[in-house]
Amino acid sequence: MAVRRPSTWLPAIRAQWTSSLRFRTTFITVAATGLAIAVACVWTALAIHNELFTSRKDQVLDQAQRGIEQAQDVLDTAEVATDSAALQQLLFDARDTLTAQAGTSYIAYYRIDDATSAIAPPDFALIEDGALTVGLRERVRTSADTQWWQSVPMQLSDGSTPVPAIVVGQQLQVQNANAYEVYLAYSLEDADRTLRFVQGTLWITGVVLVLIVATISWFVLRTVAQPLIEASQTSARLAAGDLDVRLPVRGRDELATLGRSFNAMADSIESQITELAELSQVQQRFVADVSHELRTPLTTIRLASEMLNDRRAEFDESTARAAELLHAQVARFEQLLTDLLEISRYDAGSVQLEREPTSLAQLAEDVAGSMEQVAAQHGSELRIVAPGGYSPVEVDPRRVRRILRNLIGNAIEHGEGRPIVITVDSDARAVAIGVRDHGLGMTPEDAERVFDRFWRADPSRKRTLGGTGLGLSIALGDAKLHGGALAVWSEPGRGSHFVLTLPRVPGEVSDRSPIPAEPHERVADDLGVTQPIRTEDGEARP
Ligand code: ADP
Repeated sequence: MAVRRPSTWLPAIRAQWTSSLRFRTTFITVAATGLAIAVACVWTALAIHNELFTSRKDQVLDQAQRGIEQAQDVLDTAEVATDSAALQQLLFDARDTLTAQAGTSYIAYYRIDDATSAIAPPDFALIEDGALTVGLRERVRTSADTQWWQSVPMQLSDGSTPVPAIVVGQQLQVQNANAYEVYLAYSLEDADRTLRFVQGTLWITGVVLVLIVATISWFVLRTVAQPLIEASQTSARLAAGDLDVRLPVRGRDELATLGRSFNAMADSIESQITELAELSQVQQRFVADVSHELRTPLTTIRLASEMLNDRRAEFDESTARAAELLHAQVARFEQLLTDLLEISRYDAGSVQLEREPTSLAQLAEDVAGSMEQVAAQHGSELRIVAPGGYSPVEVDPRRVRRILRNLIGNAIEHGEGRPIVITVDSDARAVAIGVRDHGLGMTPEDAERVFDRFWRADPSRKRTLGGTGLGLSIALGDAKLHGGALAVWSEPGRGSHFVLTLPRVPGEVSDRSPIPAEPHERVADDLGVTQPIRTEDGEARP
């Protein structure tokens, strides 16, 4: 099993923290519960420790007190000993009584003043020296009736590690011979063991409680979070356009209310969108029908206008002018109808590409050749720069030709009689055609709107070629149908550059064009091209 390195934990936890409501809530619950249980455990352990110690201390002080009193009794009621052996025996008797009453065998006694009696028995100690501090002995020695105690670590007679103990000290009067300091030591080992057991149990209970809380909150949150996760996934699908999705509604709680409201909202959105789609379809059909129906009468009008136009020499001047105008406007009307029909086909999604292997450089040359005359009428020269784009690409040549015709037509229209450069280039993934004019150009705001339907930069601009305002939006539709793009660069006074980019492999969207939209030449170079450029056999020659 792969084990994560600790350095990857933190980012993983951070990612979970930000992305999972369940993880975050469980984490906070466990942390808060853990803290609360830790505080409770520490507090309980301290309370138990104090209680255990206090009760044991009271008990030993009581026992010691009783022992000393009994021993004192033995000493006081005995006959006065006159020699050291008798006194020693008396003290032994008192000691036995003391140990029996006090309930400990750890006992020590020391004579307080060596000088008072010559027959006083010697010191006796079963408590290790270290357990009796100087301070305690000093206090016992200086106060005759007071009982003193101290909590110390003490080495037991078996030589094991020191255990917690209480040493009690008091004076004992051995007849009129001497005062002795007597010490009794009590081991607190049992209390300590009890305390450790209680503490251990407390900590285990605490940890188990935290685990139980974590498990419970994880499962409880699942019941709350699961519907929320479902709701967020469903709303994301709805936002992505899947209008059929609905939330399952169970029960009558708040989550069920949320589900019902969500479903009602989805129903309303779906019905509105369906209504709009139907309305839009009706409109599309209307435009298509009107365009179609107008074609027949228009064809008759065109034929009549052509006839009148052909015979305008026979008319007087104003009638001849009217016939000429009629002919031009009828042609424009027909173009508008054709464009409208095409647009309505795009809107209905009924456009099909007819791909065939096509050399874009060849195609560009054909279109440029067919438009050379119109360009010449406007004083513009068409030049082709074609370093690439000869190897055939699967495109619909009719549509690409239409795009090019539109771009070159616009360049002639707005090119101010200056040269127009058509570049064809390609790379491994895409082919591109750029149409660059050096005419009026457009402001950035205008350039952003050129692909809008019926939009024109300036309706008052003189126009001689078509001019329905639909040309570029159809061109963009054609480019997108190929999975390609149509980009524009334009600057007032420097002209415009339209670049059509088509992917070599159908369907593969190209993000970078072999021809950048922004031209590299400096302003001074813009009009520097003087020689028309023609290409043959894929070779570009100046
Ligand atoms: P139109 O049929 O009017 O040419 P288009 O969609 O082809 O319609 O173009 C929309 C508008 O974009 C044009 O009316 C013109 O104002 C502007 N435009 C297009 N090409 C150029 C260009 N090469 N230079 C300046 N303006 C242009």
